Amino acid sequence: MKNFKDLLADWIEREGNVLASMSDRIFDHPEPAYHEEYASGLLEDYLEAQGFAVERGLGSLKTAFRAVWTSGTGGLRIGLLCEYDALPNGHSCGHQMQGPAIAGAAAAIKALLPGNYTLVVYGTPAEEGAGGKVTMLEEGYLQDLDVALMMHGGPATQTDARSMAKISATVTFYGKSAHAALKPEDGISALDALLLSFQGIEFLREHVKEDSRMHYTIKNAGGSANVVPAEASGEFVLRSYDSAYLDYLILRFEQIIQGAALMAGATSEIQYHRRYEGKIPARRLNQLLMEQAEYFHAPNCQLPREKTGSTDFANVMYRIPGSCIRVAFVAPGTSSHSQEFLDAGKTPAAHDAVIYAGKILAAAVCELVEQPGLMKEIRQEFEKEKSRH
Ligand SMILES: [Zn+2]
Repeated sequence: MKNFKDLLADWIEREGNVLASMSDRIFDHPEPAYHEEYASGLLEDYLEAQGFAVERGLGSLKTAFRAVWTSGTGGLRIGLLCEYDALPNGHSCGHQMQGPAIAGAAAAIKALLPGNYTLVVYGTPAEEGAGGKVTMLEEGYLQDLDVALMMHGGPATQTDARSMAKISATVTFYGKSAHAALKPEDGISALDALLLSFQGIEFLREHVKEDSRMHYTIKNAGGSANVVPAEASGEFVLRSYDSAYLDYLILRFEQIIQGAALMAGATSEIQYHRRYEGKIPARRLNQLLMEQAEYFHAPNCQLPREKTGSTDFANVMYRIPGSCIRVAFVAPGTSSHSQEFLDAGKTPAAHDAVIYAGKILAAAVCELVEQPGLMKEIRQEFEKEKSRH
């Protein structure tokens, strides 16, 4: 007799062509952050047809959506999240696969899994560089979940343990302009302050934890060389694997900016941009996803990635346990955002990745619903890890 996971897998397999064609259609209509009308519409229509209660547009985000299915009396709120934004060169990060995989998993669960639980599918726009999930969290969405699951295509089937907390800032220094040759003594150089701030960052680099990252560039140098520049600005990025340590970096960064301004006799203004937290590692949840990946023989299964860049999903994973299953569809070592990634977008391997991810996520949801002890274990680990970050 077939076990229940195989029945879910059969359902997704039968739906395979529909899911693969949705993925291809999203791939053929690449839409940049905040403009994913086609992709969100396609997924909303599908989920509505499957019987989910769909809210189209959430808060200030027209292309975000929430689709809910309550089974029995509700209970555990399980979130399945998907992204669908493209880059300027198209879907070179493989986000076309996410919605169809998630929607397939959700539809299979709804069709087959009895019990008390609530399935919440969130369409999350603008992951690339914009942080749509941060806006959604700020506006009260994604906070209704007990656990959040995602998928992403990649060169290996694996999960992530950690990601970098990140903040970026624009710093403007204000001085006083003067003729650089005739009256330099009357001038205060905003550019001097900016260059001194870079020096300060370089000296700081030796005295921070070694997995910290600090980068900077000049945005506005202030104009021609024969005028003492009255205004100059730079962009700074600070990162750490630890959100609490990022707070320390911010403190030291602000001291450097103040010091640089003081040395040049200038004044300064710091404008912070969107902050990404570091993921709270959810190793038990990662293990749950990988157990399903191995059960369905997903390609190239590997250990979790211990180091990754920054993502807005981390802000979700900072609040609730979460995990993203990355499913192999390109050769080992292939980097996302590359031409190779783009070229593989509609291959049989990409279609298979949609199906694998659908099965893995559906099976994981099934385990979470059927084994209440599992969620308790995941939550306990999360609380313990969170107290360290
Ligand atoms: Zn991506």
